[in-house]
Amino acid sequence: MRDFSTKAPNVYQAEPIPEAALTEIAALLQSGDLFRYTAPENAPVALLEQEFATLLGSKYALAVSSCSAALFLSLKALDLPRDAKVLIPAFTFAAVPSAVVHADCTPVLVEVDETYRVNMEDFAEKIETADAVLISHMRGHTSDMDAILSLAERHGLPVVEDAAHSLGTTWHGRNIGTLGKIGCFSFQSYKMINAGEGGILITDDPELVTRAVIMSGAYEHNWKKHDLVAGLAAKWQNKLPLYNMRMQNLSATVIRPQLPELARRVSDGRSNHDYVAERLNASGYFHVPAPLGPELRAPDSIQFNLQDFSEEQARSFVSESKKTGIGASIFGLSTDNARAFWNWEFLGPCPDLPKTRDMLSRACDVRLPVRLKRDELDYIVDALISAARLARA
Ligand SMILES: *Cc1c(COP(=O)(O)O)cnc(C)c1O
Repeated sequence: MRDFSTKAPNVYQAEPIPEAALTEIAALLQSGDLFRYTAPENAPVALLEQEFATLLGSKYALAVSSCSAALFLSLKALDLPRDAKVLIPAFTFAAVPSAVVHADCTPVLVEVDETYRVNMEDFAEKIETADAVLISHMRGHTSDMDAILSLAERHGLPVVEDAAHSLGTTWHGRNIGTLGKIGCFSFQSYKMINAGEGGILITDDPELVTRAVIMSGAYEHNWKKHDLVAGLAAKWQNKLPLYNMRMQNLSATVIRPQLPELARRVSDGRSNHDYVAERLNASGYFHVPAPLGPELRAPDSIQFNLQDFSEEQARSFVSESKKTGIGASIFGLSTDNARAFWNWEFLGPCPDLPKTRDMLSRACDVRLPVRLKRDELDYIVDALISAARLARA
């Protein structure tokens, strides 16, 4: 039996920012040139946009202040009517329905299964009266995008991907974020690339990116510093509000040297996750839902369902896990969790979503930063199994 009084791995500790950033940051601070539109060309934010679009295989990228800002600008760029109904999975982060509300649209929550993926029956029913679809690949779990894209196409509705937690995930070999009309990513510290805060949107649609560029705060003729289709920007000049959600050069300078690290982070994260998943599944206490066939994941956390725990045993599992230094949380049993739809009181009356509610009451969440080594992963698994054993005793 392991002694859990020894030091638990810190699952909140980030990876260091690559050294290459230091020289660039020093030069940037020396120049004082932090605003993306001061330099005539090649500002760090503009270079990041080119590099990110190339990395993902999309035509355009626009770097902004957060993924939430990217989601908001995506909906605005689509020019949806006021109060347009936007389908979103009921299992996501509170910032997602918030971005929909911010864009003067109405979020319609779709049931999510115990696999953490969109329930396609509910989706097929609710899409009948929807105006747009925003798929949050929550915690990097990809829903059935073949079915979602074909239903959306049949109804003539645009799909926006919230790929905040899916950078590096592929579906049939294609990058998540390039499947819908627009894909949005986050550079917040708990994501695969860490700038503290930041976001980026990608698209192949020249009109959408032009509208998003202007609304992000490319005032006057600053859109000339983006690689846009000539004529489109002039068409939208002065026709759109300027929401000022730009990224600054310091963030881009922290992000750019991390791009070459992505492939390693993705493969380390996946092998760590799969190792832990196999041990958790073998324990008999937990079930880690398998990825879908076309999906190759890029996880930096793990989710698993408690098997045959009463609510009291589930709560006891959480408190026992805290004592080991590995705090597992259950989305639906922790107070004010921002990923539990009933806490989104700003939306008004709480919808009836029994499948999602049931999933949230059993689904555990543990961070698994990609830098963890095998002995640290073993500590985490042993701690979770020991907590489960005590909770069920
Ligand atoms: C982190 C996250 C967001 C919000 O990203 P920010 O950059 O913090 O705005 C949105 N959706 C999902 C699925 C996330 O994980």
